[in-house]
Amino acid sequence: MLGKGTKLYSILRLKCPRCQEGDFYKGHPYSYSGMGRVKENCSKCDLKYNIEPSFYQGSYYVTYALGVALFIAVWILQLLFFPGVDPGTLLLAMLVSLLIFSPLLYALSKIMWINFFVKFEKKKN
Ligand SMILES: [Zn+2]
Repeated sequence: MLGKGTKLYSILRLKCPRCQEGDFYKGHPYSYSGMGRVKENCSKCDLKYNIEPSFYQGSYYVTYALGVALFIAVWILQLLFFPGVDPGTLLLAMLVSLLIFSPLLYALSKIMWINFFVKFEKKKN
């Protein structure tokens, strides 16, 4: 399931969706200089990451879905471990978790978005 050739491999390792070897981002999602900055091309297979102008605007929908998933995860964790917490504290926990995970969600949304459109090609390795 996580082997090379699957979309999950490219997404979780932040690698090129076509060859799954070249890095997708200029830096780590949590480094200030490289936060969300996609490279121009893949260093291994030369895939142009910016397929068309404003290509990554569609990734906002993915970011929204990931944010909702994060809120649901925090809510479920609250129900399991702190069932008596008031709604204000729960909201604060959700906002703090969003603040902590937003660089990661942003990075994941772009790599997930390009994985919708680009398929893995073994020949490019
Ligand atoms: Zn590549």
